[in-house]
This record gives sequence, C-alpha cells and structure tokens, in this order.
Amino acid sequence: MDRVTFPERVAEIDLDALRHNVRQLRDVAHPARVMAVVKADAYGHGAVPVARAALEAGAAWLGVAHVSEGVALRRAGIEAPILAWLHTSGTDFTAGVEQGLDLGISGWELEHIVASARELERPAIVHLKIDTGLGRNGCPPDKWDALLSRAVEYQEEGLIRVVGIFSHLAVADEPARPETDLQVTAFREAVGAAENAGIDVEVRHLANTPATFSRPDCHFDLVRVGLGIYGLSPFADQGSADLGLKPVMTFSTVVSHCKEVPAGQGVSYGFAYRTQKATTLGLIPVGYGDGVPRIATGAPVLVEGRMYPVVGRIAMDQLVVDFGATGLADTPNSLLGRRAVLFGGSGAPAVEDWAAAAQTINYEIVTRISDRVERVYREASQESDDDA
Ligand SMILES: *Cc1c(COP(=O)(O)O)cnc(C)c1O
Repeated sequence: MDRVTFPERVAEIDLDALRHNVRQLRDVAHPARVMAVVKADAYGHGAVPVARAALEAGAAWLGVAHVSEGVALRRAGIEAPILAWLHTSGTDFTAGVEQGLDLGISGWELEHIVASARELERPAIVHLKIDTGLGRNGCPPDKWDALLSRAVEYQEEGLIRVVGIFSHLAVADEPARPETDLQVTAFREAVGAAENAGIDVEVRHLANTPATFSRPDCHFDLVRVGLGIYGLSPFADQGSADLGLKPVMTFSTVVSHCKEVPAGQGVSYGFAYRTQKATTLGLIPVGYGDGVPRIATGAPVLVEGRMYPVVGRIAMDQLVVDFGATGLADTPNSLLGRRAVLFGGSGAPAVEDWAAAAQTINYEIVTRISDRVERVYREASQESDDDA
C-alpha cells in the first residue's frame, strides 16, 4: 500500500478564503464598516489566527460574547477595538476596562462597569444595547430612557464613554418576514432617543451576516458578521458561492480500518444498521468526542473521489461508512489509510450536508468541532515564505 500520510484528524483553516470573505463583506456593507465576530473560538476556527487575518483584510472591529474572550485576544497582542456583549455577575469587568475592551450594556451591567472604571480611574468604553424584539439581552424599550439618563450622568462624570448603540435581529435569515421592519423602526427610535439625550453616537450597529446581505437598510455604521467570514451562507435557498463566499474549514481524517463483511452484519451500537448484502465497511476515526453530531447518521464522507454514507450509530470516537463494494479490503485498491473528508474543499460534502443530517444549522457544525481535532492554518503567503 502507498504510504501517504495525512494528519490523523484535522480541521484545515484556509486563511486566504477567510480574508476573501472579509473583503467581500466589506464590499457588500460599504460604506458601513465590518466587525468580525470571533466568539466561541471563531466559530471553531481559532480566535487568534482568524482575528489577525480578519483585521489584515480590513475588518475594523472584533466582536466576542464574553469579556474573557476579548481579554484573551488582547493577551495575544491584538490592539483593534473589541466589543464583548454577554455578561454575568461573575464577569471580570475590571479586566475588560483595563484591557480597553468595548463593553455592551443592557441594564444592570452599567453599575458594575462604572465601579470598575472608578477603581481604575479610567473611563469604560460602552455600547448600549436596545432589545428591539429578539427577547434576549438588550434593554427593554420602556427602560431605555432611564438607562440613557444614567449613562449620560456617568459620561459627564468621566466614568464611561458611550460610543455605540446596538441591537440584534431575530429573523434576518428569512428576508421575507416582516418582523425585521419592526426591529429597524424600533432601533431608529432608540438611536433618536439617545441623540436627544445628548449622546454623540459614533457607531450604530444592527446587522448580522444575513441582514448584511439581504437588508442594506440595516447596515448603519457597522455590521457584525460571523458566519459570512467563515464562508457559510445563512440562507436556506442560497449557498456560499451565491453570496461570493468561500468555506474556510475542511474537516478530514484517515480511513482507519477497511473490512469485508457478509450480509446481515450489524454495525455499531444498537445494531441500528445491518448490511443488506456482502460489502466492505470503512472505519472513520472521528465521533462525537471530536464534535461530530451523534444523530448525523446518513451524512456523506468523501474517500478517493466518492461519497459514502455514514451507517449505524455515530460513537464517541468513530463512525462507519459502507463502501458498498466487496473484495476491496485486502487488495491494492483497499481504502485503508486513504484520506476521508467529512466536509469542506472542492468535491467534498458541504457543511450544510452535515447540518441537514444532524437537523441543525451550519453554524453549529463548525463551532462544535472539538479541541481533539488539530487546527492547521493554510495561506498562500505562508507557503511562499516557507519556500523562500
Ligand atoms: C453571534 C452574533 C453576531 C454574528 O451573527 P452571524 O449571523 O454569525 O453573522 C452578531 N451579533 C451578535 C450580538 C451576535 O451574538
């Protein structure tokens, strides 16, 4: 057998594709600027390398959910503006203010952030968040005026600087739905109230990836884009290429066993699958411990130019594909040791194929790939450096 060696389990991250996507989103959003959302380890792609590449490609801001995620980026030497918007009473606001993070405020956080600013004798940079309908965080409209007046007082005391007003959309991935109009109207009212209260709003931001593509009226000054920079489409009826995007992650491993079995062979726990006829089974050494959804039986795996379905239950460490043919296992054509691509790259299954098999969305498939899978970063500039 040819001894071609592939990494045992790898998520290859194409940073050139990522830069392309950021530039594409900049063009679509222009003249609004781009915040690259790198929460949850950049949707599983690796926060620090993705943040650096996104900034190189012209993203003006970075967005994360947690202050701790923002602090980690600062510790990696990233100096660009970083907004963090999801807090608890355990959040280290002092670290956030000290590291110069921009902090989203929906209500109660204001007092905590002001306390940190007092202690550090350094004003906190804040963005006030209005709930325009999503029903998660964000200040309810009836409490907005009260939040604004407290913010104005603290700003006059020099404890905070309000630079942004923002909100988050609920149904932008379904552009025909009317609720986005209501959210835009509520957002405009909230911005108007902030201006009337004497706040000089530098950045108004509302759009996520779907709204950046489908609702130019949501662009305002800044768009917060996550999914799109990873090259994936938020729409059911449009793929990456339709939006001018290139998928960034390729997830692959190696066929670790190849064996001939008779008809009636049970496969994996519960015997949820039995072979109909004699066939060759391939063992693929990734499972839910690597972030492969356990319910994704039937999803495709690419081996040597052909797609094979996952059969039987997906286990913690492994899954099985049915190669169909017999007489394969011990021949020179054996697929043992061949590269097996779960998704990404040309001719391979798409992230969306796995999302469909797992009854979820592409966001979840890439984000849940676990730390057990090595991330390898690819970029042309890097390769030419290596050649030099
Ligand atoms: C995750 C998130 C985004 C990015 O959403 P995408 O659909 O991935 O572009 C934007 N804003 C907020 C508040 C978020 O939580």
